[in-house]
Amino acid sequence: MINYKDLGLVNTREMFKKAVDGGYAIPAFNFNNMEQLQAIVMAAAETKSPVILQVSKGARQYANQTLLRYMAEGAVAYAKELGWENPQIVLHLDHGDAFETCKSCIDMGFSSVMIDGSHLPYEENVALTKKVVEYAHQFDVTVEGELGVLAGVEDEVSAAESHYTKPEEVVDFVTKTGCDSLAISIGTSHGAFKFTPEQCTLDPQTGRLVPPPLAFDVLAAIEEQLPGFPIVLHGSSSVPQDEVDTINKFGGALKAAVGIPEEQLRKAAKSAVCKINIDSDSRLAMTAAVREVFANKPAEFDPRKYLGPARDNMKKLYIHKIKEVLGSDNKA
Ligand SMILES: [Zn+2]
Repeated sequence: MINYKDLGLVNTREMFKKAVDGGYAIPAFNFNNMEQLQAIVMAAAETKSPVILQVSKGARQYANQTLLRYMAEGAVAYAKELGWENPQIVLHLDHGDAFETCKSCIDMGFSSVMIDGSHLPYEENVALTKKVVEYAHQFDVTVEGELGVLAGVEDEVSAAESHYTKPEEVVDFVTKTGCDSLAISIGTSHGAFKFTPEQCTLDPQTGRLVPPPLAFDVLAAIEEQLPGFPIVLHGSSSVPQDEVDTINKFGGALKAAVGIPEEQLRKAAKSAVCKINIDSDSRLAMTAAVREVFANKPAEFDPRKYLGPARDNMKKLYIHKIKEVLGSDNKA
């Protein structure tokens, strides 16, 4: 049993309270590899932004849960080396699928876990989430629950259709489970293809697809039920069209990739939404940079020569999200 506090990590409690009160949101960035982690830590240290390092089931399978945990411990030491005296870094399990998965992460030093019972019947979701909360709180680990279903595909998470969170259920769920934050469904979606062209309208000026707006009325109804309670948005990549264009220009084939417009996320960040999950945007930034090097320098075979630019591009993206979208800079 390793407690996250011994690793220099923090849980989400204080961080979320400040974010809700301050009208900004904490970035939750997924990571699978060293360059991505370096980019996240550099961006957070440079902007003094609290940050949540997220590990999904796919990441645990790809990189190994134990190795990822040690990387997060290394991230704290690295952040200090970069001059961030008191790093506010959370290590979070994204989409925990079972009690055992959450327990195993808590036991090895994660400071926060998500238990995703959103696909289960309501009472089963309540029971499972409550069980995880009871275990986690013994060690002061914070727990994110989920109500409502997001559409899209991201690693293990896949659903054809979304179901908005029902505002009339949230008080009962939070009271019965004791969870510390709640992921909701208001029209965000996992992956880089969040909406079909049929769901979008066409901007005649740019020729780009414009996605349907988020259900801010549902968010407002939830906030009314749970004043000040930390709300989480999954599937909130914006799918930057310049990265998509670069990928396609240098041999990629991403057709009709559409994300959540940043002005909508800016609006959400000012509300009780205090954690915004971003994964696909970083994948796009990495792929765009790597493709550009491969296309322009076909003789290059030193991985540092393409992963280096990929890291730079991801860092630029993370800083942009922190400063221009979530508003979490200078909050840690
Ligand atoms: Zn998610």
